Amino acid sequence: FNVPTPVNEPVKAYAPGSPERIELQAALEQARSVQVDVPMYIGSEEVRTGNTKSMSPPHDHQHILGHFHEGDASHVEQAINAALGAKHAWENMAWEQRAAIFLKAADLIAGPYRAKINAATMLGQSKNAMQAEIDAACEFIDFLRFNVKYMTEIYAQQPPVSGNGVWNRLEQRPLEGFIFALTPFNFTAIAGNLPASAAMMGNTIVWKPAYTQIYSAKVLMDVFKEAGVPDGVINLIYVDGPVAGDIIFKHPDFAGIHFTGSTGVFQHIWKEIGSNINKFKSYPRIVGETGGKDFVVAHKSAIPKAVAVGLVRGAFEFQGQKCSAASRAYIPSNIWDEVKGYMLEDLATIKMGGTEDFTNFVNAVIDEKAFDKISGYIAKAKEAEGVEIIAGGNYDKSKGYFIEPTVIVTKDPMYTTMCEEIFGPVLTIYVYDAENFEETLELVDQTGPYALTGAVFSQDRYAIELATTKLKNAAGNFYINDKPTGAVVGQQPFGGSRASGTNDKAGSMINLLRWVSPRTIKETF
Ligand code: GLU
Repeated sequence: FNVPTPVNEPVKAYAPGSPERIELQAALEQARSVQVDVPMYIGSEEVRTGNTKSMSPPHDHQHILGHFHEGDASHVEQAINAALGAKHAWENMAWEQRAAIFLKAADLIAGPYRAKINAATMLGQSKNAMQAEIDAACEFIDFLRFNVKYMTEIYAQQPPVSGNGVWNRLEQRPLEGFIFALTPFNFTAIAGNLPASAAMMGNTIVWKPAYTQIYSAKVLMDVFKEAGVPDGVINLIYVDGPVAGDIIFKHPDFAGIHFTGSTGVFQHIWKEIGSNINKFKSYPRIVGETGGKDFVVAHKSAIPKAVAVGLVRGAFEFQGQKCSAASRAYIPSNIWDEVKGYMLEDLATIKMGGTEDFTNFVNAVIDEKAFDKISGYIAKAKEAEGVEIIAGGNYDKSKGYFIEPTVIVTKDPMYTTMCEEIFGPVLTIYVYDAENFEETLELVDQTGPYALTGAVFSQDRYAIELATTKLKNAAGNFYINDKPTGAVVGQQPFGGSRASGTNDKAGSMINLLRWVSPRTIKETF
């Protein structure tokens, strides 16, 4: 059964004077001129607790974009009850009706909401226009449209074999209970997709976004509502993590978690779920995409300029706050000088600042906690022996959480910043003897606990083959002669293994199948 493949949403260029640029600038100005009041959305209610917290652009932390209303344990209970209450009608609705709602949501983002969701992502998460466009607009639209295709294929699957006097069927039921979507700040598309993909398959959702993404989450919720997602199907709450977890991870109707976030939090959640395993009606589905320490390894045959471009873009787009960001690189000695030269040239042209100035490539990191953590690594590197900072190294949080794109070169391939996830604009490079490619691949494979993305640069097919084989388990998304970021829905299904997650490829049928529980029916005549 072959459902036509949607076309990936074209990326708009936002050239000066273009209609999309004018519209986006107007949306930015409008957003900066008002303060929004963001309630929680539980069932049919907009819940305002009065316990408000402010939201600010990370690049301009004194400016207030608005406030959200924080909830407590009672709101977690209410959201669960709303999800369970909405379940019967939602799961019995024909799947085509659910598909229509999410296709409409995609059209709303592609059209009337595009500038608004991009502006919210630019201001709330400090993404430049291009990074917002490829995330909040294009990737989210693609998630919705491609998932509807995969959903159609799942529901239209060939039935099992039947024989004389027997008719066998396979029914794709939604999970029994509610799904918890726990979503990250770094991709608006992921924040929207984690609740939407599980909801599409007939489940109802309690959605808790990162506090640093609530500003754009509210716009996503407006879109879901306007598209026709019924009350109670997606409930959006802002509650302290441990408070929510304490209720959700022992609730008998907890049916699964759809998560993107840190490895530490995911492992903690897994333990919580494990320790309460006898309390649930079913074994909960645990689907998570977590950290990364993503590598770039170049072979002596690599084109130096291509490596340099891959490193700069892979490491510093969105300030390195992608799980997929290039953060450790292994460059052979024969091309190092050239790679370094191109990188420094490129970095010298990069501007850093707020997202409202479209010429800034680098913006602020998400919040003070991130700033302190990332700058801490840089401060230590400045003192460390055998370690040299060849670009960047400065940081300043007086107006916004700005950290220069920083390149560290280390003589020790096991130096801290080669191994630990930093989640910021810090790239560490180890220069290896150009004849030691194979040993270097082993080093790449054995460094750190993660396996999310990675890239090899080479013009030599034997070297590409060797890297592809040796690094088989080192990355869920492996790139040949390209940067390790920027997976496109429908083209490079995304996810990793080891400590990087359960590898249930976002935006694929594999992922959607986690949100159904098949029933086999045999009928004899
Ligand atoms: N899918 C994104 C990429 O390929 C990364 C997602 C993430 O950071 O969680 O760059």
